[in-house]
Amino acid sequence: MTATPRSDALFERSRRRFPGGVNSPVRAFGAVGGTPRFVARADGAHVFDADGHRYLDLVGSWGPMLLGHRHPAVERALAEALREGTSFGAPTARELELADRVVDRYPAVDRLRFTSSGTEATMSALRVARGATGRQQVLKFAGGYHGHADGLLVAAGSGAVTTGVPSSAGVPEAVAALTLVAPYGDAVALGRVFEQHGDDIAAVIVEPVAGNMGVVEPSAAFLRALRELTAAHGALLVVDEVMTGFRLARGGAIERYGLDADLVCWGKVLGGGLPVGAYGGRAAAMDHVSPLGRVYQAGTLSGNPLAMAAGAATLDAIDATPDLYGALERSGARLADGLRRAADAAGVPVVVNQVGSMLTVFFASAPVTDLASASRSDTAAFARWFHALLEHGVWWPPSQFEAAFLSVALDDDLVDVVLQAAAAAFGEVARAGAPD
Ligand code: PMP
Repeated sequence: MTATPRSDALFERSRRRFPGGVNSPVRAFGAVGGTPRFVARADGAHVFDADGHRYLDLVGSWGPMLLGHRHPAVERALAEALREGTSFGAPTARELELADRVVDRYPAVDRLRFTSSGTEATMSALRVARGATGRQQVLKFAGGYHGHADGLLVAAGSGAVTTGVPSSAGVPEAVAALTLVAPYGDAVALGRVFEQHGDDIAAVIVEPVAGNMGVVEPSAAFLRALRELTAAHGALLVVDEVMTGFRLARGGAIERYGLDADLVCWGKVLGGGLPVGAYGGRAAAMDHVSPLGRVYQAGTLSGNPLAMAAGAATLDAIDATPDLYGALERSGARLADGLRRAADAAGVPVVVNQVGSMLTVFFASAPVTDLASASRSDTAAFARWFHALLEHGVWWPPSQFEAAFLSVALDDDLVDVVLQAAAAAFGEVARAGAPD
């Protein structure tokens, strides 16, 4: 095992200072065991830990770093914005500049509101939906993650349609009870929920490609049912593009699959590595937001000028990179194919789900289409594979149920380096004992 004395010492101190030693749970390596490596810096496709080791980055800060780290255009824009001051709590032209770029990519959006995180975006979008419809219930899908607001920390029981049971202590039962849960990707089950609760549902919130149970691409029939059922019952369709926005296409999953949403949520790529979220939609819905309407939502740092500058520079750099989405599509497919071949050669059963630059290697032998099938993965085999990858210099998300993210900095040669490491890691998994 590589020695990581600096990371180990930092984690020791951090455990005294932060719950579990971290400021966001999955960073603690709880799902895979071991001590997390502290990042000292990152550049292009690489991150460097506190002990000076270099890794190929397949986490990409959990999505934002589509261009890789330290893209020169983003750094330039930040340096320029920095000279003007870092926060004013007053409107700026920079907010308009980023908003115009969003609307250019999402033509069905008239107005939007910037927040500082994806959590605030989804939480606020649901408040707007409730304010606009006068209804209380919202529906989410099992295994969907939309941030950590009370009403969204709710998962289903055993794949059936259930009224929400909180999946975190501290979420009041009365709040969780307002969240209905249905299995992801199941149009028939969704129809049944609407038959039963249709008149009470303010909104359905959905990851248009799931990333938070690992990557799962839904069927066209499911996506169609979402639109038809919400429209037929007067509920709003909230498409959570926090992960997929600006990643799966210029106009996100909405463009890629030709979706029609009432409200859209963004985050991650939108801020180019700085803290940004946003929600938006047609004027009719967004005009419920204060100070115009009666749905209150605010933020001291919302529309922060540095964040706006990084976001605008990121979206411009995406447009300035010839065939960026085509290239990401090809490297995603190349990585997925290579991973399947390497696992096969080692005799390790895996299911690789890949959509564009999002990808999950499930240590499973049957197709993964929802939370129930994802949950049948061999998480011990994943943990072994993860640690072997890390030893071979690949920084992979430290949980079976997460998406790996490709960046444009990860070129074909670097994908091949990942594949060599993955092949060695599958070999180690096979030697440790075949998964169930
Ligand atoms: N929605 C989705 C689909 C997400 O993936 C995430 C974060 N992973 C969020 C919302 C919450 O965003 P944030 O962590 O910025 O609050």
